[in-house]
Amino acid sequence: MLYLHIEPDQQLWLDYFAQEYPDLQVVTADDDYDASQIRWVAAWSPPKDLFAKFTNLEAVFALGAGVDAFVRRDDLSPEVPLVRLLDAGMADQMVEYILWATLTVQRDFDTYLEQQRQNRWQEHTARMRHQMRLGILGLGALGQQVAKTLASYGYPVSGWKRSAIELDGVDVFTGDEGLKQLVSQSDVLISLLPNTPQTQGLLNGELLSRLPKGASLVNVARGVQVVDEDLLDLLESGHLRFAALDVFHEEPLPADHPYWQHPKVFVTPHMAAATLPEPAVKQVVASLKKFEAGGEPEGLVRPESGY
Ligand code: NDP
Repeated sequence: MLYLHIEPDQQLWLDYFAQEYPDLQVVTADDDYDASQIRWVAAWSPPKDLFAKFTNLEAVFALGAGVDAFVRRDDLSPEVPLVRLLDAGMADQMVEYILWATLTVQRDFDTYLEQQRQNRWQEHTARMRHQMRLGILGLGALGQQVAKTLASYGYPVSGWKRSAIELDGVDVFTGDEGLKQLVSQSDVLISLLPNTPQTQGLLNGELLSRLPKGASLVNVARGVQVVDEDLLDLLESGHLRFAALDVFHEEPLPADHPYWQHPKVFVTPHMAAATLPEPAVKQVVASLKKFEAGGEPEGLVRPESGY
């Protein structure tokens, strides 16, 4: 029996589970069920203590790519295998968001929007793709797809990760020195890092001031990676030109937060890459069947790294 916790469109998710795995019994908070019979939980934004009542859990499926809401919590033992979504339709959405943000600064669409508000007709010199160096922090399931796709469009792309890899058309950096080097040569810095103790506060004044003057930041990872005051200072001083922010320390972003009205900040409500029910359910069912067959599914979170 699997317990499902998801909003909105719960019925849609139930329908996909019924379609993909008709023999699986799926229950939700609306049902009357015996908690000791629950072997699996599939959830997004699990509320506090959700897992405490399930004493016979065999695995948990995070219905997203990030698992920060599932690790380091008292009601869920790290011994219980945790599986996350790998891409499942999110990588293409990330490509679109990051391409939009890149084009916004490359083609001055932010400036043209501002000019329109002032009834001002003024053309600016267009920049070519090869003049826009993209630096991607995190080359995992999403970052790699973004890096490869944007490199194929003619952008010079660099990426940063923990361990070195070869990636066609992408310069890969590792370590603290690699991070500084990548940042110093990025016209658009993009975060696709998971939320871990090592990445919290990483995008601070010390690091962001290493960006070339006029560079921009795109944060589609997690809000806690950015030191908001430092980013605002760098935008105010003119060192940074633009920030596209999809994720925040507190979500929804509080109504009085300076980001809302800032002329150089574009706020989106954590929508850069939404979980799509159909591919997500397909992946969860495939992982579940792998467990049942005694195997290990892809997307198993390593407890020591926490992502
Ligand atoms: P992955 O786990 O596949 O990739 C994470 C990448 O980050 C890996 O390349 C990893 O390096 C690198 N990394 C992790 N820690 C460090 C570190 N300390 N230093 C350097 N590199 C590091 O994650 P996904 O690509 O699937 O997702 C990335 C994040 O995107 C999610 O965790 C989530 O927070 C965010 N997200 C946001 C969404 C939105 O709508 N805004 C939607 C979906 C995801 P290595 O491979 O070497 O271990």
